[in-house]
Amino acid sequence: MQIAIDGPAGAGKSTVAKLVAERLGFIYIDTGAMYRALTYLVLQKDADPYDEENVYTIQQEMDLQLLPAADATSCRVLVNGEDVSEKIRHPDVGKAVSVVSSHGRVRWAMVALQQELASGCNVVMDGRDIGTTVLPKAELKIFLSASVEERAKRRLAELVQKGHRLTLEAVIADIKKRDHIDSTRAISPLRMAEDAVEIDTTDLSVDQVVEEILALVVRRENRV
Ligand code: C5P
Repeated sequence: MQIAIDGPAGAGKSTVAKLVAERLGFIYIDTGAMYRALTYLVLQKDADPYDEENVYTIQQEMDLQLLPAADATSCRVLVNGEDVSEKIRHPDVGKAVSVVSSHGRVRWAMVALQQELASGCNVVMDGRDIGTTVLPKAELKIFLSASVEERAKRRLAELVQKGHRLTLEAVIADIKKRDHIDSTRAISPLRMAEDAVEIDTTDLSVDQVVEEILALVVRRENRV
């Protein structure tokens, strides 16, 4: 069974996707981490995120590994052998990732890799274009949404916990910019698949969202 979870930044996709995967014993694939890993490398090489050709070359040379973490509830991300799991969450990476991931050649290569990772597995995959492009035949498609303010508050709490100092206004501005680039890009933009179930998480706890998705899984299984 393939479960696709899409939605804008800060809607709670990765937290929820990890827990759903854990409860079902499925593999969890964080596609945002893949674009973030590439962005980390682009920034480390002092390359221009807008330079598609160069970004694509860096992608082709990148050795990317997604490994389950010891607690089995998250992935470790290795780039050229270096564990960058924490570094890819840095606000500088967050600022550049939407530009890096908007390039057509980069996306097609990443989508092919994601399809390969998911093939033949029971998988929960989260991102922006999973239900529409990466796994269009997924048995269950979820689109998580939440108000911009709520999403920014969640993101800010995560960043503050990691020691970053940012204001709520700055995080709201970053999220709005990222949403805009992600949803207006030409190739596989952030969009809800026609057959997706939308869950507005603004007033829901993580557990409530997880339970709602698990109930949908049971309903899908009963239908087969
Ligand atoms: O999910 P996360 O916020 O970590 O994703 C970071 C960025 O990676 C997104 O803002 C988007 O630009 C890009 N992304 C994408 N397609 C995906 C997953 C993420 O373009 N499937």
